[in-house]
Amino acid sequence: MGYWKLFAGLTLVTSLSAGAGGQNDFSGVTITTTHVAGNVYLLEGSGGNIAVSVGDDGILMIDAQFVGLAPKIEAALDELSKGDLKFLLNTHYHRDHTSGNPAFGDQAPIFAHHNVRRRLAEDPQEGWPVVTFEEGLSIHFNGEEIKALHYPSAHTDGDVLVHFTGAKVVHIGDLIFSDRFPYVDLDAGGDVGGYLNAIKRLSRELPQDVLLVSGHSPVMTMDYLQGYRAALVEQVAFIRAGMDHGRTLEQIQKQGLPGKWKEWTWSFVSEADWIETVFKSYRH
Ligand SMILES: [Zn+2]
Repeated sequence: MGYWKLFAGLTLVTSLSAGAGGQNDFSGVTITTTHVAGNVYLLEGSGGNIAVSVGDDGILMIDAQFVGLAPKIEAALDELSKGDLKFLLNTHYHRDHTSGNPAFGDQAPIFAHHNVRRRLAEDPQEGWPVVTFEEGLSIHFNGEEIKALHYPSAHTDGDVLVHFTGAKVVHIGDLIFSDRFPYVDLDAGGDVGGYLNAIKRLSRELPQDVLLVSGHSPVMTMDYLQGYRAALVEQVAFIRAGMDHGRTLEQIQKQGLPGKWKEWTWSFVSEADWIETVFKSYRH
C-alpha cells in the first residue's frame, strides 16, 4: 500500500467533513486548541496534529497540516499568543504534515531531517525545510530545551520526534496509531524492524512521565506506548512464525491475527495490509 492511499484517504475525510466542497475546501474544518502541559498546546484540524510551544520567545510549531488550513491555523496561533512564529519543524515528509509549509516558510525557518527535504524536493513547491540534520538538534526556546531526535527507518526514513523537556511533552509524529494497526510506509524508507526498534528505544529512553502527542491519535502516556509495543511485538512474531513455516502471504492473511486485534483494522491499514507490510519487511 502506497503513501498515496493514505493521502487520498485523508483528503476524502476532509472532503466529507467539508460537505459538498472539493478536496481543497477546508471550510468545514475547525482548528481546536487543547493545552497539553507547560508551554505546549495541541492543534487539531485535518491532517497530522500540530504541537506548538508558546511563550516569551514567540511560537515554535511542529508540523503544518494543509496549506488551505493555514489561515485557520494562524488564527488559532493568534488566539494563543501575539508573538511571532520563530520555528517550524516537520516530524516527517507526509503531505498531511507538510503541505502547509509554504504558508509558514516565509515567516520562520523550517527544520527537518535531511530525508524530509530530499523527498519534498522531488515536487516543485515552496516551503522546503531550510535547516536539515541527520541525528538531531536542540532549540533553546521559551525557557526549555526542545530536542529533535531522528529515529531511522520506522514510519518513513525521515522520522523525528520532538521532546519539550521542560513541559514533558513529546510529539512522536506518526509512530503510534492508538488501538489501530500502524502505517509503515515501505515506499518511503519505512521498515517494520526499524519501527519496532524505534518503539523499544523510546520506551527505554523517554522519561516515564512525558505525555505523547502524535499525528493521528489522542494524547497518550508512556504506559500506553509500552502496551502498544508489546502488542506489535506479539503481532510481528505471530506473522513471522507463519513465514518460518513456509506459508504464503495469502495463507497468513487468510488465517489472520488472533481475534483480540480485530478492532485494530481502520480505513488506511486493514489487518491484511498490516500482515502484508510485515511480510514484505521480513521477506528476504
Ligand atoms: Zn505519516
